[in-house]
Amino acid sequence: MKYFIHTYGCQMNVHDSEKIAGILEEMGYSLCDRVEDADIVVFNTCCIRETAEQKIYGHIGAIKKLKRINPHLIAVVCGCMSQQEGAAQRIRESYPFVDIVLGTSNLSLLKEAVEAAQRKNKFYNVDFVPYKEEDFAQARSSYPNGWVNINYGCNNFCTYCIVPYVRGREHSRPLDDVMAEVHRLLDEGYKEITLLGQNVNSYGHDLPDGVNFARLLREIGQLPGKFRLRFMTSHPKDLSDEVIDVIAQYPNICNNIHLPVQSGSTEILRRMNRRYTREDYLSLTEKIKAKLPDVGITTDIMVGFPGETDADFEDTLDLVRKVGFSSAFCFVYSRRKGTPAYNMEQLPYAVKKERITKLIATQNEVTKAISATMVGNRFEVLVEGENSRYKDTMCGRTESNRLVNFKCDKSLVGRFVWVEIERAGSATLWGKVVAEEK
Ligand code: SF4
Repeated sequence: MKYFIHTYGCQMNVHDSEKIAGILEEMGYSLCDRVEDADIVVFNTCCIRETAEQKIYGHIGAIKKLKRINPHLIAVVCGCMSQQEGAAQRIRESYPFVDIVLGTSNLSLLKEAVEAAQRKNKFYNVDFVPYKEEDFAQARSSYPNGWVNINYGCNNFCTYCIVPYVRGREHSRPLDDVMAEVHRLLDEGYKEITLLGQNVNSYGHDLPDGVNFARLLREIGQLPGKFRLRFMTSHPKDLSDEVIDVIAQYPNICNNIHLPVQSGSTEILRRMNRRYTREDYLSLTEKIKAKLPDVGITTDIMVGFPGETDADFEDTLDLVRKVGFSSAFCFVYSRRKGTPAYNMEQLPYAVKKERITKLIATQNEVTKAISATMVGNRFEVLVEGENSRYKDTMCGRTESNRLVNFKCDKSLVGRFVWVEIERAGSATLWGKVVAEEK
């Protein structure tokens, strides 16, 4: 019996798919490369943008044809899209060939749901059913990096974002459980741990004994052995001095912070309910740069939010140049039903298009300038695997999270090497291995 998983959206979903794979493998299913060969197809969905959602519905529709060829095929839809109000009902009516619908917080029901579907019964349930990660095996696919959830949900209600409605209120995983998973991964030979949460900085606020994110970082940072610790995502309003100090103190914690700014205009940030100003963000990044030399600050930036004027947009471009992000995920605001910004007056598409082009060009200039300073220098890189875009080329990341391509033996995956940067495109660096980890 074979399974195939379509994963859409963010790293949370990528990691949830590892849990789904673990549950299915325990049930006797094994992974296949082609959806046509599968006995069970899972759509682990995302609803952050309406256009992406339409595309996913299209992919689900295509399963109808496969079901005609293989009537025993089980179709599963789970994740953020199915958690939206009324979505389960919509799927039931428009895609009756879907056997299982689960939400964002009830993967613990997957085994029971598959067993029901094997008996030809439908299983639709999007209730929040809290579960412990420890209860499932995980089929990890990202060695040498291991994802570790530390908190779930979000309380921030940015006015453009659907996440708090589909992932529920913020709650933290107990410190001991997180530490046990980290120990397990390190014992198994993982060389990079990435802590995951919608807002990692608020980790612990609902836990006893004053546990907070800085303490968690410290506990992991001081573990023996050579490994890297990363985390995402940080909300700028909650990134404390204590966290920055801990990053500076422990060499295992990477000098890299993903700090979504979204806009460089205080007025737009207010309309987005981000709860920091342009000045707050600039002084925070100045503080980070002062305490963490060579830090890589990455970000998410949105253009075309309702009410964004030319002056607001210029403020964003100016902030991009001032901060010097090593990379940025730049995107156009997309209206999302169920969020407050949906009802705000929208900007014309042509304006959004012009702004995104300018923003990307500006960020490319910034990245290119940083890349140029790296040429001729040596960086320690964790070898991740082959770069599928280039023949016989391996890749890995610097501590600041820049992707580097180089040639080396495949046996070095999961090892640290020193790479001298020989040339730079705007985002990608090319180099040669000059020393290997003993
Ligand atoms: S912090 Fe804002 S953007 Fe991030 S998940 Fe929460 S509501 Fe969405």
